[in-house]
This record gives sequence, structure tokens and C-alpha cells, in this order.
Amino acid sequence: MLRVKLLVYCLLFCFLSYAQEYEYNYSFFSNSSMAGSHYFSRTANSGSSGIKNSNGKLPVSETILHTPGNALQLQYRNAADGKWQAAIYHAEIRGMDHFKKASFLSFWIFIASANTSLQDLPAVQLMRQDSSLTSAYTITAGKANEWQRVIIPTTSIKGFKPDEPWTIIAIVFAGQKSTDNREHTIYIDDIAFLSTDHAGPVSELPVIATTTGYAMHIDITWAKITDKNIRWVKIYRSADGKDYRAVGVQQPYINRYADYTGETGKKYFYKISFVDGNYEETNLSLPVAAATRSMTDDDLLTMVQEASFRYYWEAAESNSGLARENISGRQNMIAAGASGFGIMALIAGTERKFITRQESVARFVNIVNFLDKAETFHGMYPHFIDGLTGKVETFFGNKDNGADIVETSFLLQGLLAARQYFSGNDPQEKLIREKITTIWKKAEWSWFRITPDSKFLYWHWSPDQGWVIHHNLIGWNETMITYLLAIASPTHSVPARLYYSGWANQDSTGQKYRAAWGQTKEGSMYTNGNTYFGIKLDVGVSDGGPLFFTHYSYMGYDPHFITDRYTNYFINNQHIAKINHSYCVQNPNKFKGYGDSAWGLTASDGPDTYYADEPVVWQDHGKITPTGAISSFPYTPAESMKALKNYYFNYGKWLWGEYGFKDAFDLTNNWCSEIYMGLNQAPMAVMIENYRTGLIWKLFMQIPDIRNGLKKLEKEK
Ligand code: CA
Repeated sequence: MLRVKLLVYCLLFCFLSYAQEYEYNYSFFSNSSMAGSHYFSRTANSGSSGIKNSNGKLPVSETILHTPGNALQLQYRNAADGKWQAAIYHAEIRGMDHFKKASFLSFWIFIASANTSLQDLPAVQLMRQDSSLTSAYTITAGKANEWQRVIIPTTSIKGFKPDEPWTIIAIVFAGQKSTDNREHTIYIDDIAFLSTDHAGPVSELPVIATTTGYAMHIDITWAKITDKNIRWVKIYRSADGKDYRAVGVQQPYINRYADYTGETGKKYFYKISFVDGNYEETNLSLPVAAATRSMTDDDLLTMVQEASFRYYWEAAESNSGLARENISGRQNMIAAGASGFGIMALIAGTERKFITRQESVARFVNIVNFLDKAETFHGMYPHFIDGLTGKVETFFGNKDNGADIVETSFLLQGLLAARQYFSGNDPQEKLIREKITTIWKKAEWSWFRITPDSKFLYWHWSPDQGWVIHHNLIGWNETMITYLLAIASPTHSVPARLYYSGWANQDSTGQKYRAAWGQTKEGSMYTNGNTYFGIKLDVGVSDGGPLFFTHYSYMGYDPHFITDRYTNYFINNQHIAKINHSYCVQNPNKFKGYGDSAWGLTASDGPDTYYADEPVVWQDHGKITPTGAISSFPYTPAESMKALKNYYFNYGKWLWGEYGFKDAFDLTNNWCSEIYMGLNQAPMAVMIENYRTGLIWKLFMQIPDIRNGLKKLEKEK
């Protein structure tokens, strides 16, 4: 009987924890991240029928729009001898995989051409996952020169299940019967499946809490929103305090808006309102004023650090205080490695007084209490943790349902730096240190050799499938820290010789591994020795690989103090950063925007998926990642500062946001990521701090266990 009860409780509990993950509206369009054209659209036409496009993408309007900043423009011609169509795709965003019930499809239309009657309007169809189309819906909103809403109940869509909105991948507008062969122009905005639940009205009052001016943008904040009927916060700006214009909308789960005005030394007034799920808007808040101001290079560094820091401070997973994988994404899923990076960003933010030491201590008490109780496997954390339960979350599939010793290394790098930073004698700081020591001591590094005579450490272990992933750690890549921490462990260490037999392995296992992912034999011996762009590379596969290799292990570990048989890792990292910069200046693939002040190929969100770019033609897809250049500040201060200024002053309108720089952009494809990644924001805050003061490096390198580990490694040289 007890067993039955426990099972029922577990099922209920598991269901509840699942159900609490934030559900998004399944949306097709509210704004294009870039002006000019919308990346997630595709046009086609035949005969004399046509639809205006830019390389097959729909143009966007920044003047006629329903929600700021833009709307889709459909300028078309219906002729007897052909057809046209425009598909607007749902942009899949990492971790945005829980959706509200789709009660109806809703969009807004603005008919701008006077000669356009109902029969001249396009038909609407929904595209399924197999690219088949539903039957056509006719638009019956025919008034010119005003925004009208179109609603299609999902009950009318044959075979559609309201709780599976993702079975529809695009909304298609297509020319129909009319063959007047004249030009028509309509605008479309805010296409989404919406739910009748939590639609309206709004009970909270909009109030601006703070405004802060920076060089080219103003940050506006308001209290965290609890009213579930709020779909958007709408931001209004005025230059004179009289005429207000809506300049943006913000999601209800972010209580901040970065308004990039593009002008320095100018005063602005702001008001906000709340918009509900029926698009009804509340009254506007009282106005608040702020001004942009000129900033020195030092001010700019602080600005980038503070914005990146906020990702881990005000946008952290709410229960644990740890870092989310990406924003927007799963809201209660913690990423272990990103949390370690975030912990170091929190330390830098505390030292820079973005928060008080008391606030910081309270957060760290919460963090260490959570981690102390969270599920571990032989003392190692999983890659992803459910922030509500502390249990493993299998975001990367069922094989990855146990230990991840690389993610745990990144987490411990942060925790050990924190143990050093919180050196006070009060009970809270003592508790932080004690719990971190417990976490550090329970990590069973030696167990991850599989056998006592193994040359390698293995990345994962599953409680029910054992070594099923069986990925041995071989450098050069981001995993040096795992060998260094395993050697440094006071309780479950591995022999220092594993650094050479595993990480820097030179037998056929290591050679094959490196040649496979590098697609070249250069660097397949761990050592390289070639010169690229006039720069010598001692260690590294291909010409050094993505830049995150030079960041992840060296946010705590100061690479100045890591010299093995082959190189010094500050010098080697610096050379890899310079090769990356030189490659982007040369730009052999001729991608738009690359150059002296736009460089840094590394792992990031891409137009279609997350991948690592490298400075070689076959691994360079046109995507620049701000963290690449900016987290390289200690290695390439001049080149990194040029990139920072270019990204902020020239691209800030679309690249700068609430948590600093968006993850990546691709000017060739006129695309910019809409997300921030936990692995990419903190390295900017931390490596800028290491460049400016060496704070995290100094803290980490004071740790006796870390020093002992490096001494042991020195003896193997
Ligand atoms: Ca819009």
C-alpha cells in the first residue's frame, strides 16, 4: 500500500514539476530581429504573378506596424498566368519547447493600397511538418488604412490538436482568384496561436521603476510581473515629453527593456503599458525621464560586464539562483557549466558593486544549499538540472541522464573561486565555504577512468546505461580544466600522468580523434607547430579551433601559470585568438561584415541550430559571435575593444539587449539571434574582469588544492 501511494505521489509530483515549466505562445511573427527582410520567410512565384522579396525573403516595414519595431510587407500582383505565395515560419528557439494550448490563430492585417478589395487579398493556409498545406481560409477584414485582427479558430483546422501547435511549421499567404494584374500592398503583424486561457483583462498597473542612461541606450525596468493575462509590456518614448511613440514590446517574464536610441547626450521620456492576450491595452504609466551620456572605454567595459552579469543575477532560474541554458528558453532548467561561469560573473559583479555584498551572500547561500541537495552521480552533476526538483533533466536525450564531468568542472571552477572570495567570518560566508568544500570533496574524478589503468577520463556516466556515451576526453579543446581539477582533487584525484596520457594523448587514439573532428592532420599529435597568418601555433587541432577553447578552462585557471611540455597556455591562447582575428580580416569565404572589428568564430546559436564556427573555410558559416572577440580581452585587448565598439555603436540597434550582446549574427543572411546563451554571456563579464584586474584569476590561483595540482603536473614535465 505504501508503495502504491509513493508511486501515485511520484507521478503527481513529476507531472507537477513538468507542468510548471513556462509555456510560451506558439508564434510565427511579431518582429523581425533585423530590418530589411525577415529571415524566417520564403517567397515563391510563377508567371506574371509576383511578390516583392529580397533574396526570397519578405521585406519588413518599420513605419507601418502593429507592434514595434516592424511588420511584414506583402506587395504582390495576381495575374491569370501564375501564382505567388509567402510562407512565414515558426523560428525554433532552443528550449522554447513548452507551449500554451492553441485556441485560435490570430494575426493583424493593414491594407495599404486603395484598389484592394476582399477578393484581391491572399488566402491563408497552414503548413504541416510534412510541408502539406491545410485548406485555405479567406480573409474577411477589408477596411483600408487601419489594423484589423483576423482570427481563425483552431477547431476549424482539420486534424489539428490544440495542445500540439508545433505540428504547424508555417503560415502561408497565397494569391487567389483575382487576376487584376495590379499591385496590392498589405502589411501583416503578430501572427501566433493564442490561448483563450489567461487572455485578459489585466489587473496590474504599469509603473516604471528605474531608468538608466548609457552611451546609446536607456534601460527601463518595472516590477516583476505576476499577472498571467499580460502578453506584452509596451514601451513608449518621447523626445519632448509630449509626443510619445511606441518603440518596443517586451515579454512579460523580462522586467527590463533596453531602448537603443542611437544618440549620445540626449534626454528621453518614457511610459509603459500592459497589453493582454486580446490585445487590449491598459492606461499608460506616469512618465520617467533619462538621458544617454558619453562613456569612456572603461565605462563601456563596465557596461558590457553589468549587462552580461544580469543574465545570472536577475534572470537566473528562480528557485536555485543558478543559470538557465538560454534566454528565452526553458525557464526552470539549470545548465551546470553555465552556472559555474555565472558564479564567476556574480563575483565580478559583487566586486564592481552591481549588487551589495549582502545580496551576493544571500544568493550564494541559496545556490550552495540547492547544489548540496541536488542529484549527483559519483559526486558529479548532470549537464542539466531541473531547478524545481534538483533532479537531472534529460535535455540532450535519455543517454545523457547522469554525470557530466566537464559541466561539473565548469561549475566547480566557479564554486572554488567563490569559496576563496567569501572569506568572511560570519556564519553565512562560513556556510558558503563549507558547502563548497563538501561539493568539491565528493566529486569522484578517479571513478571516471572506468578502469584503474585507463589512460583517459570519460565525459559521461548514466545510472542505468553506464558508459553508453563512452566519450574519452582528449585535447586540444575546452576540457583541459577537467584533467587539471581531477589531478588537484584532495579526495578522489587521478595521477598527474593522465594529463599526458589522456588530454595530450599522442598515440593512435588521440591522433584519430583529433583528425576526425579537425578534418586535418594538423595538430593531430596534440602539438601543431605550423604557422597560420604568420602566427605560430604550438598546440591545437587545425588552426586552433573555436575561441571557446581559450575561454572555458581559463576563467579561473590563469593560463599564464600553465606551462606543459609543449607550450605556455597564455601565449598559445593569445595566438589562437590572433589567428581567429586574422582569419576574419582575410575572410576567405567573403562573408558580409567580417573584418578587423567584427571577428570571433566560436560556438553559438545559428540561424538554424547551435554550432561551433572555426577559422577554416569549411567550418565558417558566416556567423560572428560577440563573446568570441569580447571574452578574448586578456589575449587581444586592442582587437577586442574594436569589436566591442563596432558591435555596440554600429550594430547596437539589433545586437544589444537587456543582457548585453545577443548571442550571434550573420549579416550575409541578414539574421541576428534573438537569444542569450548561458555559456556565452558570463565569459564576457569574467574575462573582461581578468583583463582589467585579474580578480577571478587571482582568487582561483590562491587555492591550495589548485596550486598542489599544478605542482604535481610540473613534476611530469
Ligand atoms: Ca511587429
